[in-house]
Amino acid sequence: MQLVATIADTRKLTQQARRDGRCIGFVPTMGALHEGHASLIRAARRDTDFVVVSIFVNPTQFGPNEDYQRYPRTPEADWALCRQEGVDLVFNPSVEEMYPAGFCTWVEVTGLQDVLCGRSRPGHFRGVATVVLKLFNIVQPDIAYFGQKDAQQARIIRQLVRDLNLPVEIRVCPIVRAADGLALSSRNAYLTPQERHRATVLYRALQTAQKLVSQGERDALLVRQRLVELISATPGATLDYAEIVDPETLRPVTQITQPVLAALAVRIGSTRLIDNMILTPPDAEHQMDGTDQSDMEGGRDS
Ligand code: AMP
Repeated sequence: MQLVATIADTRKLTQQARRDGRCIGFVPTMGALHEGHASLIRAARRDTDFVVVSIFVNPTQFGPNEDYQRYPRTPEADWALCRQEGVDLVFNPSVEEMYPAGFCTWVEVTGLQDVLCGRSRPGHFRGVATVVLKLFNIVQPDIAYFGQKDAQQARIIRQLVRDLNLPVEIRVCPIVRAADGLALSSRNAYLTPQERHRATVLYRALQTAQKLVSQGERDALLVRQRLVELISATPGATLDYAEIVDPETLRPVTQITQPVLAALAVRIGSTRLIDNMILTPPDAEHQMDGTDQSDMEGGRDS
């Protein structure tokens, strides 16, 4: 495995791989790697011949009062995980390498960037879209892997690829959860044992919503209300948002007649956690099963 900090060296190695006829798979991350990231790396390993992982805590996607400084950084453990998973190249740049003095170009995916997480994190998706486009230009992957855990991010990246004609296929992999249902996240490291226990409410609430919908409930406001109630009833949990949206437009729906995205952001103590689930009404089950969207997402953009 090669560990590289510069754009020039990354370019050299990926260009060589391409000349050798290898298909390049790419997994962008902010490090503090866990099984969720490992699942993306394994998908890339399975589908492609040269796997690149970037590890970069991107300052431009954090707001001024967010956790950029505090974000967990575990470089040695990350490199060990990458080595173990058979990654070919880890790109681990500095902030100066990615944002040299004078940097002033930004990418905005209007509309999609302003709803859900974009509402409480202004500028977040501008930072995400900009860094992902930069990384795509540096690595020039054939296929890039994202997690459904960050459903809005995945949707925005697909739009970016479509709108700017980027020559990359996007594959979205299912959410990896702990045994009790909590979606794995680097930010789970912030939780105290008591908060960690309370954090399971996100998944429990989503499961309740799924149950209502599979029993035939079509009123999105009622399902949303149930999510709100379950979060509000949990001590130490503060709701940022609970929304039932169209998975394509990310706009709220009123009737659940097609698969919808139930998306949650909840503060547990001072830690902001997100989770989501595709809710499929009984008569639309053939459209999407809600557990593995990699084929759906990959198929759309391939
Ligand atoms: P991050 O390091 O948090 O920016 O995440 C890097 C990539 O890993 C993103 O595409 C995330 O959606 C994905 N990811 C993070 N957590 C999970 C998870 N629990 N399951 C699946 N993918 C995940």
